[in-house]
Amino acid sequence: MADLKDSIISWYIRMIVLPRRELIGNPGFICEKMGEGDAYLREIAFPSSVGIQLEKKLRPVDLYRIGKKFGWSYAKNSDIFTINKASEQEFRNAAHLLIKYMESISFAQEMNEKMDYRGRIFELKMKDTLICSKSGGGYLMETGGIAGIWAYAVQDPSVEGVQPRCQGRGDDECEVIVAPRKTLIQKGYAPMQCERMVNLDVDVRYRELNKIRPTRWAACSLRSLIDSKFFEYKHGLITYNTERFFLCEASFMYFLENELKNVSDGLELLWDISFDFGKALAKKAGRQEPCKFIMDVFPALGFGDILAVANDAGYELSVANFPWTELADSTDFVMFRGMLSGVISGLTNERIELRTINKAVSAGYLALHIS
Ligand SMILES: [Zn+2]
Repeated sequence: MADLKDSIISWYIRMIVLPRRELIGNPGFICEKMGEGDAYLREIAFPSSVGIQLEKKLRPVDLYRIGKKFGWSYAKNSDIFTINKASEQEFRNAAHLLIKYMESISFAQEMNEKMDYRGRIFELKMKDTLICSKSGGGYLMETGGIAGIWAYAVQDPSVEGVQPRCQGRGDDECEVIVAPRKTLIQKGYAPMQCERMVNLDVDVRYRELNKIRPTRWAACSLRSLIDSKFFEYKHGLITYNTERFFLCEASFMYFLENELKNVSDGLELLWDISFDFGKALAKKAGRQEPCKFIMDVFPALGFGDILAVANDAGYELSVANFPWTELADSTDFVMFRGMLSGVISGLTNERIELRTINKAVSAGYLALHIS
């Protein structure tokens, strides 16, 4: 009976909630609706292979810090139920719906939760998770990200996460436990610690700069590329030719880059990993004209409206309506430029590096000029 109920909920999420919660039909934009109003968060489709390589090359403590800060900020900005603002039943229902929602945006399959409401303990069993099922780590999203979300939900920054079992380490499923740090220690675990959370405000400025606008150059949306079978969306997984994408609130790329600034060689590593992803994507695509490929695919991944041109000096890209957060001034979009450089290099068989970036918000949205 439990199975039947759950399959109805999954169906409900995929067929009813997801299409209304995720706005994927506008070229250049992927947005997650907040509540019943017209407010939404910008998202990007984040490739799992970039996450897997980050996990292989960065220290767990750095990955965990990025993930937890992101999870906290995402939970706050998507306005999830917090424990002090809901009844126990409302809180449990909201947690269950969030898990089923995450199942439908490529995070993991067969996510099942167990909650100790009084003890503030949340346990998740998952299969085919975004990153750790391949890397065996999971510090970035599966423990870090979920610890951040649960910390915000129970309004306790001391909540941390551990993963005693992981598919990527040979277990039959992943098991993540998030709970106050002292509880985890009592249970015999040795959790990492990160309690300094950051709030990126979703305020009037955020809404204005991230507003969905008609595009000048981009014609493809995530929905149109799913409809045309370029991307596959099946059992909650979004894939392109074996590369899996997770619909991830865009502040993730900001936290990633801003935290990696303080890690030795962090940004160089992010560049290399993003470049390699771009090259691999180009290889999967086969023969394509690089400017056209970028203008078709990257707007559908949520990165804004893109004009790419090749000229004597090399490649030049103008991007309008790039996802904005208040960290834009201090971010140079290394991941995005690395990916694009890799795609062009892969499709032309020449090493092309888009190392120059200019940013402006004077037009009422975040505009980038990259060459
Ligand atoms: Zn795992």
